[in-house]
Amino acid sequence: MENIAIIGAGMTGLSLAYNLQNKKITIFDKSWRAGGRVSTRKHNDLIFDHGAHYLSQKNNAKQLTELLINLNLIKEKEILFCTNFKNNEIIKKKIYVGNNGMNSIPRNIFESMKINSHFNSKIIKIAINKNNNYDLYTDDNEFKNFDLVLLCIPYLQAKELTKDYVNFSEDYIPDYDPIYTLMLSFREKTHLKIDAGLNLHDDISFFMRQNFKFPELKSESWVLNMSSEYTEKNLDISNIELEKYALPIFKKILKINNKPFFIKTHRWLYAQTKTTYNSLSKKNWINSKDNKIFLTGDWILGKSLGDAWNAGLKLSHYLNILDI
Ligand SMILES: Cc1cc2nc3c(=O)[nH]c(=O)nc-3n(C[C@H](O)[C@H](O)[C@H](O)COP(=O)(O)OP(=O)(O)OC[C@H]3O[C@@H](n4cnc5c(N)ncnc54)[C@H](O)[C@@H]3O)c2cc1C
Repeated sequence: MENIAIIGAGMTGLSLAYNLQNKKITIFDKSWRAGGRVSTRKHNDLIFDHGAHYLSQKNNAKQLTELLINLNLIKEKEILFCTNFKNNEIIKKKIYVGNNGMNSIPRNIFESMKINSHFNSKIIKIAINKNNNYDLYTDDNEFKNFDLVLLCIPYLQAKELTKDYVNFSEDYIPDYDPIYTLMLSFREKTHLKIDAGLNLHDDISFFMRQNFKFPELKSESWVLNMSSEYTEKNLDISNIELEKYALPIFKKILKINNKPFFIKTHRWLYAQTKTTYNSLSKKNWINSKDNKIFLTGDWILGKSLGDAWNAGLKLSHYLNILDI
């Protein structure tokens, strides 16, 4: 394989790039930066991890954890975690977070590799050429003659781009949960001793204080995940309606009287894998008949950034063997 395109610079695409490093790779992403759903939002001196919140210490991504420790990209935090807010079950939990926000993890992995990249480049078409290689198209550009194209984007988008070259089985359709997140900052401190937890309310499945990650924050900042059931039922809700609904619930439970001085919503339509491709098919990737197009992503193995990394790692092992 001489000329490899990786579409998607999330954790799966970065894992492939890392594990195929001696090859000629070009990575494309529609966003302006690497990381995909590992996302950190900054606003003046506020900062929120509003995609992936943390890397679990019980993740099974040994290579990723070792790499992050070697590159000095993560710190360990012990937090008070409420396993079920309704029953007030609180445990001490050790987790890893990014040294400078979760997105600093993929951003620094990407920068450590020095690979050819095109950001702000959404691939809208893949076409075979006369050499039986593949050309990629964005709205205003074309990139020619890749003999290997690795798609590391959500399943449905990958399927749409490759349906002329890949046979998809109707039996194996992975599934995602959508999640809306809310970012909130209050001048008033709450007296709640919990840093994060589950089931704050039927419609709020997860919440995490940002201050333990970012001690420089002067205000108290939170990220809430609306439950996927709520999000699914309310896909058409406006941001204002969502904020009007969720904010009073949160304030009441945490006994906060003041208004937040910052509130922002983010809509993740493909947030977390619900049913993995591997659990349905026992396969670790999808490929074209000519073995020049491969589809992967967290949707192959699970719903965490460790699963995304491992999906890229598994495919890289196979591709490295093919090359021998
Ligand atoms: C709200 C939320 C909370 C989460 N919490 C956690 C957590 O606490 N811990 C944890 O381990 N995991 C968590 N996750 C899951 C974790 O973020 C994902 O499993 C992981 O980041 C997925 O990586 P990926 O590379 O497979 O996909 P993505 O991160 O989605 O990367 C795909 C990339 O492809 C790009 N792309 C898409 N289409 C195109 C195209 N046509 N052309 C070019 N580029 C394209 C996108 O811009 C994106 O950068 C959470 C996810 C969400 C949304």
